[in-house]
Amino acid sequence: MHPCLTCGACCTQYRVAFHWMESDAVTPGGVPAALTERVDAHRLCMRGTYAPPIRCVALDADIGRHARCTIHPHRPSVCREVPASWEFGQPSPQCDKARRAHGLPVLTPDDWIGVAESEKNPLPRG
Ligand code: SF4
Ligand code: SF4
Repeated sequence: MHPCLTCGACCTQYRVAFHWMESDAVTPGGVPAALTERVDAHRLCMRGTYAPPIRCVALDADIGRHARCTIHPHRPSVCREVPASWEFGQPSPQCDKARRAHGLPVLTPDDWIGVAESEKNPLPRG
């Protein structure tokens, strides 16, 4: 199974901010505007990630056991752009920091043995 599907830690660690043009208020199929709040004149963020304690409102998870993004097809670009550690051949400081914050071991190349290319990038992080 993809490691993110039993994790979700990064969705509880970082502000998930993005340009307001990604919102479905202006872009059909975009990030649900109802799940966002304003950061500044140009940016929104996912509700629940503006300030600590952070937990994205779109996260359905028991961290370290199971996790899913409830808006996966409509998640912000930043959530798609940061890979999990070793998902694509190199470590990810954001992934490692988030997992350590929850007492989870950082991922290693061995965690990807048996994960098909088509399964990758299911739940990445802000
Ligand atoms: S990217 Fe890392 S921290 Fe985020 S869900 Fe995946 S394994 Fe967990
Ligand atoms: S991947 Fe989904 S649950 Fe995680 S921070 Fe992004 S929008 Fe929120």
